Amino acid sequence: MEFTLGSEKEEIQERAFDIGIIGAGPAGLTAGIYAARAKLKTIIFEKVVVGGLAAATDKIENYPGFNKGISGEELTSLMEKQAKYFGVKIFSEGVLDIDTQPNSKVLKTDRGDFTVKSVIISSGTSPKSLNVPGEKKFRGKGISYCATCDAPFFQDKNIAVIGCGNSGIQEGLYLLKFVKKITFIEFLPYMTAEKILQDRIRSHKNVEFLLNSQLTSFEGDNNLSGIKVKDRETGKEKLISVDGAFVYVGLLPNTDFLRGKVELDDAGFVKTSGLLETSVKGIFAAGDVRTTPLRQVATAVGDGALAAEMAVKYIEGR
Ligand SMILES: Cc1cc2nc3c(=O)[nH]c(=O)nc-3n(C[C@H](O)[C@H](O)[C@H](O)COP(=O)(O)OP(=O)(O)OC[C@H]3O[C@@H](n4cnc5c(N)ncnc54)[C@H](O)[C@@H]3O)c2cc1C
Repeated sequence: MEFTLGSEKEEIQERAFDIGIIGAGPAGLTAGIYAARAKLKTIIFEKVVVGGLAAATDKIENYPGFNKGISGEELTSLMEKQAKYFGVKIFSEGVLDIDTQPNSKVLKTDRGDFTVKSVIISSGTSPKSLNVPGEKKFRGKGISYCATCDAPFFQDKNIAVIGCGNSGIQEGLYLLKFVKKITFIEFLPYMTAEKILQDRIRSHKNVEFLLNSQLTSFEGDNNLSGIKVKDRETGKEKLISVDGAFVYVGLLPNTDFLRGKVELDDAGFVKTSGLLETSVKGIFAAGDVRTTPLRQVATAVGDGALAAEMAVKYIEGR
């Protein structure tokens, strides 16, 4: 079966849809596929890039069906084509606000308002900053949050990766294809990445691990040239020369535009029931943006399918 690709930047004249989905990552694209196959007029809003965080991941090895892994870009572009094949409209504009009315919801964007019967929030997360001195100054001048985007700039350089969770170690493995050496910095006394990733990274010679260590500042003149790291046991601080630093210390929910609209948890993630209902009838949430113990592509697509099914049922029962 052939999927046809529409134009990503297409203008959309129509302003009334059955389902409005906020965010075109794996959760939103899956929700779109399910909603459109239920014959509902479906629009997805995307403010940055279709595919979401997953699209910027070099290799995804734990998504079922790809025994040798698949690049995040390829996987999400297949999802996008599939959604468009079933008639989903993808609108390259962020949703700025939701206006909840008794029988409909209005999604506000810089290019006008859209009226929908039901909403699925799948706006995901963004990488967390460390908030230490120098981080703002050297962002893009040595500090990066995306290995697939920036690794080639650090060919044969010494770099640091901050964070030894799954993201840090996985992206570190990718960075090793380019760089001379990686110093990993981890706040906790142990790595939290899956064991298989830990074994893989430890098999490399050009890596060093500073566990129980806190990055206290980024140093340099115009570009990053070093990091200061404090040993949390001894309290001693040292300066390590690096040309680059990749930060993987967690994720922040993209929910600023939802404050006061749906109930959020203390960290800002959307609270949902087991059926992915939010505190507002007819608004559902799926994927990384909601309170959940696991944030992965497999869980995001599962959520997307369930949220779409619940939105369909909500519209039928209105
Ligand atoms: C470095 C790294 C490596 C990873 N590796 C793996 C892996 O190997 N395997 C795995 O399963 N998972 C991996 N993940 C996790 C995976 O990427 C996420 O779980 C998945 O992308 C979540 O999908 P999502 O659709 O919920 O959110 P996202 O992919 O974050 O998509 C959300 C989308 O919503 C858009 N958006 C936000 N706000 C708005 C708005 N107001 N209006 C319109 N659009 C908006 C964003 O621009 C984004 O495109 C990794 C993550 C990172 C950071």
